[in-house]
Amino acid sequence: MRLLLLAPPGAGKGTQGQRLAARFGVRHIAAGDLLRAEAGAGGPLGREIAAHQARGDLVPDQIVLDVLTPAVVAAAAQGGYILDGFPRTLPQATAAAELAARLGVTLQAAVYLHAPGKVLTRRLLDRASQDGRADDKADVIRHRLEVFAETTGPLVPYYTQRGILIAVDADQPPESVTAGILAGLSGQLARAPALQVRHPGYGN
Ligand code: ADP
Repeated sequence: MRLLLLAPPGAGKGTQGQRLAARFGVRHIAAGDLLRAEAGAGGPLGREIAAHQARGDLVPDQIVLDVLTPAVVAAAAQGGYILDGFPRTLPQATAAAELAARLGVTLQAAVYLHAPGKVLTRRLLDRASQDGRADDKADVIRHRLEVFAETTGPLVPYYTQRGILIAVDADQPPESVTAGILAGLSGQLARAPALQVRHPGYGN
């Protein structure tokens, strides 16, 4: 299984990414987590990443590609991945697609999780009171949602044109969102049998 989760902050990419990775037995690659780990390691690169994340701005594409590519290539060789938050810009998407085509491991599905802005903001503010992430503050949250709409939003038509977009309502309990994703995936794989994957418990 090679799948991308495309979603605004607060839509539940992380939760769904973990659930899908466990279900399909593949690696969950969370771009924000890998970048936060790199930021935590310090040094000039770490400080640059941390500054972008704290403002709610995207980390520059080349840095993201340098940090993410080795993880994606390794996971692809081991059976697949659930990508959570990468690619997040059109240049990242085209770079990732070229690499995947070269390796013969193109994406099978791009799952777009959507929910109203009010719901997303409320979830992020709730999370702020629990895990204290530097970017979970009202003004930074507002900026992250704008960045999503402007910069990541164009990936929705991009993957729709490629015939692999699955849109799922994320304003539901986590189990229902997972069920929506799995239903969308089985429809998608039935329409494109060449992409079919076999997995125990998946019902194919
Ligand atoms: P959320 O989607 O809730 O904002 P993430 O952990 O996915 O949380 O991302 C947090 C931050 O990490 C982003 O605001 C951005 O600064 C950085 N980031 C994550 N993924 C990418 C990416 N693919 N490209 C650029 N920056 C990224």
